Amino acid sequence: MNNTKYQLPRKIYASEEHQMLRETIEAYYKQDVEPYREKWEKQGYCDKKAWLKAGELGLLGLTLDPEYGGSGLDFSFSALNIELLSELGMVSPAISMHADIVIPYVEKYGSKQLKEKYLPKMASGEIVGSLAMTEPSTGSDLQAIRTTAVDKGDHYLLNGSKTFITIGYSSETTIVACKTNPRTPQEGISLILVDAGTEGFSKGQPFEKLGLKASDTCELFFENVKVPKENLLGEEGKGFIYLMQELPRERLTVALQSIGAVRGALKETVAYTQERTAFKQPICAFQNTQFKLAEVATQLEIHTAFVDRCSELLSEHKLTPELASMAKYSASDMQNKMIDECLQLFGGYGYMWEYPIARYWADARVSRIYAGTNEIMKLMIARSIFSDYFREMKAMMKARKAKKMAAMKG
Ligand SMILES: Cc1cc2nc3c(=O)[nH]c(=O)nc-3n(C[C@H](O)[C@H](O)[C@H](O)COP(=O)(O)OP(=O)(O)OC[C@H]3O[C@@H](n4cnc5c(N)ncnc54)[C@H](O)[C@@H]3O)c2cc1C
Repeated sequence: MNNTKYQLPRKIYASEEHQMLRETIEAYYKQDVEPYREKWEKQGYCDKKAWLKAGELGLLGLTLDPEYGGSGLDFSFSALNIELLSELGMVSPAISMHADIVIPYVEKYGSKQLKEKYLPKMASGEIVGSLAMTEPSTGSDLQAIRTTAVDKGDHYLLNGSKTFITIGYSSETTIVACKTNPRTPQEGISLILVDAGTEGFSKGQPFEKLGLKASDTCELFFENVKVPKENLLGEEGKGFIYLMQELPRERLTVALQSIGAVRGALKETVAYTQERTAFKQPICAFQNTQFKLAEVATQLEIHTAFVDRCSELLSEHKLTPELASMAKYSASDMQNKMIDECLQLFGGYGYMWEYPIARYWADARVSRIYAGTNEIMKLMIARSIFSDYFREMKAMMKARKAKKMAAMKG
């Protein structure tokens, strides 16, 4: 992330505190991640000690209120953490899932009692949290989830299953999106914290994935799980609203991961094309190589400017779902296209797992799928573009129906 002439001077990470954080993250990656990466990729999840070390260094509670063990910093510090870990090639989706998605839910919607119980341990890495929305039968259409939580007086009885849950296997607690008051007029989505080890809560083995191999993704099963009523986040039935409110942050984290990964892949490719020779020349001497990497650098800087602005807006609580959707879909599309171009310049070596470019390529694919697919992102943007039209159409249909009813009555 050092500025050179072809890189944007970035105000967002310019302070001394940002520089200190950058050094901490780089040291953490070098000492506590890189040496263990191969082991984690083989076992399908990263070791607990990596979480505890991240907690000790303050990387899990950057924006969390100091009252609960965090540093109380603004979002730009989290943004740097997410982007830099992704640039270095870390399993950053897992850290950001816990630190930038789960912790903010508990902090924002949890009762004082829940916050005191969970947040300090979440900041230290003792308790790692995951977020379970997707089910085997539904992902994009969140309102169609079937997991239910029935009110039994002092507890909820939870039944259902979830799939594709990031760090579902290694997390100690999970925020579960479920339907409360099923089949009653009050039916709605609620968010409930469910601890691993609770009777009736079981987990599948980590899936074998195309990429993100060191970050586990698994199924969760709930069979008559008794969850204390106080584990409800916010109000019953308001879960969908909370999820919609938090999605811009989740989508921005993906955009940050995308630009970080492209920055890392570009560095790897610039170095490789200077070393590798063909036809008695380094690969970088070919105009094709130069043009391709000029395109990658340009796309990266354009997206960096947009994503930086979105990070600022998030810090000011002004990031709209539409802008976050634009950042997520465009940056992740760019990530996939640009890393594919980089890999091509490695020739056959790019296809070998021991070359980091192969991992950047494999890890990139999911960015277009999770946190809402890129098609859903475009749907949200389009809905906003045509919002007046759809509103007028709805009003017209309503008026027509009312006229028809009146005519029938008359
Ligand atoms: C590695 C990984 C990690 C994940 N982590 C989590 C997690 O931690 N928590 C969690 O809850 N979920 C997680 N997910 C799930 C992820 O969010 C979903 O896979 C995603 O939202 C898509 O849902 P789906 O897989 O059911 O696809 P579907 O919803 O079945 O979509 C299939 C296809 O149809 C398209 N489509 C659907 N509806 C429309 C529409 N209205 N218009 C146009 N096209 C449409 C989609 O874009 C897609 O191309 C993860 C997934 C993966 C792969």
